[in-house]
Amino acid sequence: MTDPLPAGSTIGILGGGQLGRMLSVAAARLGYRSHVYEPAANPPAGDVAHRVTTAGYDDAAALAAFAASVDVITYEFENIPTSALDLLEAQRPIYPDRRALSVSQDRLVEKAFLRDLGLQTAPFAAVNDEDGLTGALAEIGTPAILKTRRLGYDGKGQARLDTPGDADAALAAMAGAPAILEGFVAFSHEVSVIAARARDGAVAAFDPGENVHEGGILRRTTVPARLTAAQRTDAVLLAGRILNALKYVGVMGVELFVTPKGLIVNEIAPRVHNSGHWTQDGCAVDQFEQHIRAVAGWPLGDGGRFADVVMENLIGDDIARVPEIAREANAALHLYGKAEARPGRKMGHVNRIVPARG
Ligand code: AMP
Repeated sequence: MTDPLPAGSTIGILGGGQLGRMLSVAAARLGYRSHVYEPAANPPAGDVAHRVTTAGYDDAAALAAFAASVDVITYEFENIPTSALDLLEAQRPIYPDRRALSVSQDRLVEKAFLRDLGLQTAPFAAVNDEDGLTGALAEIGTPAILKTRRLGYDGKGQARLDTPGDADAALAAMAGAPAILEGFVAFSHEVSVIAARARDGAVAAFDPGENVHEGGILRRTTVPARLTAAQRTDAVLLAGRILNALKYVGVMGVELFVTPKGLIVNEIAPRVHNSGHWTQDGCAVDQFEQHIRAVAGWPLGDGGRFADVVMENLIGDDIARVPEIAREANAALHLYGKAEARPGRKMGHVNRIVPARG
């Protein structure tokens, strides 16, 4: 195993949102500094990072100076432009590496990768134009969802087709971008596994959480999830398979649909994940520390869970409920320091620890 990064080393983090903020805190707890790179001014991570660079991903000089100032690079989001990655990668190691990014940046590549691993996905077909959509609909049928291949998150760049008559409107919603048609999966509920792989190949997974979305945005994660013992094992094993296939280093979120035919993989996120925030108050080593451990060449925490937790996202005006939540017992607040509460904007979250019965 490679030696861990020495104390006082600097971890470069691309992206200064709440995930970057919580990664910075975890890095500091392990004796590291963080340098955050973010195009927008006053990012949430800027309050806690040792250093912040405010520059675009097309600023070669800023990227080079950033890379020169750090020992290793990681990121909080997967849509980092290729040109920026080329430049950074030439100077410092990036974890998770290019392979994980190229798979997760493109829904079509991602689905094909998962299928080739022998995992179940929604039926899918590439759609580039009207003829492509007609062909894909003939193969997959309705209901279905048309999604842009790239740059989709929180339900954006998606259109549902209840009948083939919805094809024109769905295609228009893609605005000419290459797309993928997915058959609609009749799932009973959604779960996710947050798993990590260390530099030496060790894998650790957190207990799967059950996720509820509202308006395409994660509202709540509950652990334990409603899963049979066999499904729980399946979820953890399939996450391990994905991590090993990619020789991955770091934390990954794997989103799954629970169906009578087993677990179907929806998507993977090569980073810490909103549905893993419960680990901050349910585990000795949370997902943020786990990620920093992996990136810095440490052994992983075991991922064991010591409490039942319900994580609720505080979105937009929910932030006004903070004084009330602050009076609740067993409710751990995590606020992101964002000044302006816009609709749909993630302002913070609360982890409610469910006391053991009996
Ligand atoms: P995504 O951006 O792909 O994670 O999709 C956002 C949400 O849309 C998911 O969490 C599901 O609730 C729903 N969804 C996405 N794809 C499908 C599908 N193929 N079948 C059923 N529901 C889906």
